[in-house]
Amino acid sequence: MTPRQLITDAKNTWCPGCGNFTIQHTLKNVLADLEREGTLLDNVVLVSGIGCHAKIADYLNINSFYTLHGRTIPVATGIRLANPGLSVICCCGDGDCYAEGLDHLLFAAKRNIDLTVIVHNNRVYGLTTGQYTPTSPLGFKGKSTPRGTLENPLNPVELMLAAGATYVARGYTKKMDQLRTLFREGISHRGFAFIDVLQICATFFPAADYYTPRVYDLNGHDPSRFEDACMKAREWDYTTDAPIALGTFYRRQSPVFEAHTKGPGPGTAGRDKAVRELLEKRG
Ligand code: SF4
Repeated sequence: MTPRQLITDAKNTWCPGCGNFTIQHTLKNVLADLEREGTLLDNVVLVSGIGCHAKIADYLNINSFYTLHGRTIPVATGIRLANPGLSVICCCGDGDCYAEGLDHLLFAAKRNIDLTVIVHNNRVYGLTTGQYTPTSPLGFKGKSTPRGTLENPLNPVELMLAAGATYVARGYTKKMDQLRTLFREGISHRGFAFIDVLQICATFFPAADYYTPRVYDLNGHDPSRFEDACMKAREWDYTTDAPIALGTFYRRQSPVFEAHTKGPGPGTAGRDKAVRELLEKRG
């Protein structure tokens, strides 16, 4: 399979200039790289939610599962538990997994289940024409908030660090080369990998003029240091004029959840042994 064949012939309905194109083509390039290096793409599954982002399941020619709103993570979790031989990539929206699906996201990170979660964070509900999401800035004016929101946005990077994610990164759709590196790292990481992508919504939140002058690369940052990662995550709270760090905030190795779910059922000696081993490894 060549990179060209990874794009289906389904009619693409994203708006011109939409950051989803960058995410789609970056993921396509990473998958093509992996295949050239020997990965069997039949063992890769893409799971999407509901929203503009979710159409990526129609546009990329790999196994995919188009789920319900906010339910990307539980479906992906089920796939991993049923067949740990599969590599599962989740494409979620910010209105999707930071709102209705937030509990699933937090618990998947807490469990360190081996998923790669790519959040198309355009900070608006684009498919339903411009309502505010959990990451929309304070004062955001949209269909549901014509006078501006009264809420501060969530900081997903900080949230994922607190929840226990073992790989945490942030990319930007105007930085495609870096995004490629982050997707590659996330997919290669054994454990819960989270990549928040600042995605331009060309129609309802065209924020490139805000992001582009503020972003910088986390060069020299040591991703093994949790406190430093938290400090960097808090530097920009999704609202202010502070510099916006891009790159890998945090990475560590830890036993994955699904490694301990095989064998005899819950409550049996085999399961108890697996839990004991997990506790010992985690210290
Ligand atoms: Fe992209 Fe926004 Fe158009 Fe949706 S509404 S396709 S996110 S530009």
